[in-house]
Amino acid sequence: MDSIAYVNGSFVPLSEAKVSILDRGFLFADGIYEVSAVLDGKLVDNASHLARLERSVGEISLPLPENIDRIIEIQKELVARNKLENGLVYLEVTRGADKGRDFAFPKGVKPTLIMFTSVKDIVNAESARKGIAVITVPDIRWTRRDIKSVALLAQVLGKQAAAEAGAGEAWMIEDGKVTEGGSSSAFILTQDDVIVTRQNGSEILPGCTRKAVVKLAEERQLRVEERAFSVDEALKAKEAFITSASLFVQPVVSIDGKTVADGKPGPMATRLREIYVDFARATAT
Ligand code: PLP
Repeated sequence: MDSIAYVNGSFVPLSEAKVSILDRGFLFADGIYEVSAVLDGKLVDNASHLARLERSVGEISLPLPENIDRIIEIQKELVARNKLENGLVYLEVTRGADKGRDFAFPKGVKPTLIMFTSVKDIVNAESARKGIAVITVPDIRWTRRDIKSVALLAQVLGKQAAAEAGAGEAWMIEDGKVTEGGSSSAFILTQDDVIVTRQNGSEILPGCTRKAVVKLAEERQLRVEERAFSVDEALKAKEAFITSASLFVQPVVSIDGKTVADGKPGPMATRLREIYVDFARATAT
């Protein structure tokens, strides 16, 4: 059965959910998106995702067509209408559809807001038990990766290369250092037990899961360093792992076909995953 989507004020079956071919999200990738996980019917760390949404739209001078409280109401109504227990809510806002294809911002055009849900059992994902393989690709993206833009062609190509290589994620490399995964933040655990993840800045998306995991680790007196690391360092590390709203924490067991440590999910990634799942359950709204 068709799930229900939200399009500009209406809840409609997904197969009937449509926007104009003149929508600037379609023509220019002139839009921002967010993905929040749903656990036991509740939104995980959603305030963090909506704070990042507000920041992203602000950076491109795109006014939200609804206020944040209304956006939360719509997210919750969509979860309820779809009877979604475990999965994701995808949200996208674009600069709307004008009468033609002028690059400059249109005047008097209402931004487009769409949402849809998908079912995913993130907690019991097999890839979390087995760990995932990653490949590396050059980071060919623009220089404002802190904005969660829908322009994802570089990630599409990177993740396609990963899929063709039988890997679960592509780590993007710039100036000899890992920036992040195609749709995840990258971490390692050094031989002296320091959790390392790249510092926020315009080179990466400030991951909401990354932020929560760093805080949860620090609260437990685990050592965290926010700095760039190389693939070589990752291959010499005790562990590697990734975080995202749609995966939580997942161990990385190989990079470009070479195993990380013994090629098995490590205890730190496993522990941080459990800590994150507990946090997600305890704070979901
Ligand atoms: N980095 C990139 C490039 C992403 O696309 C994503 C998620 O889609 C992340 C990191 C992880 O961010 P979050 O934890 O907020 O899902």
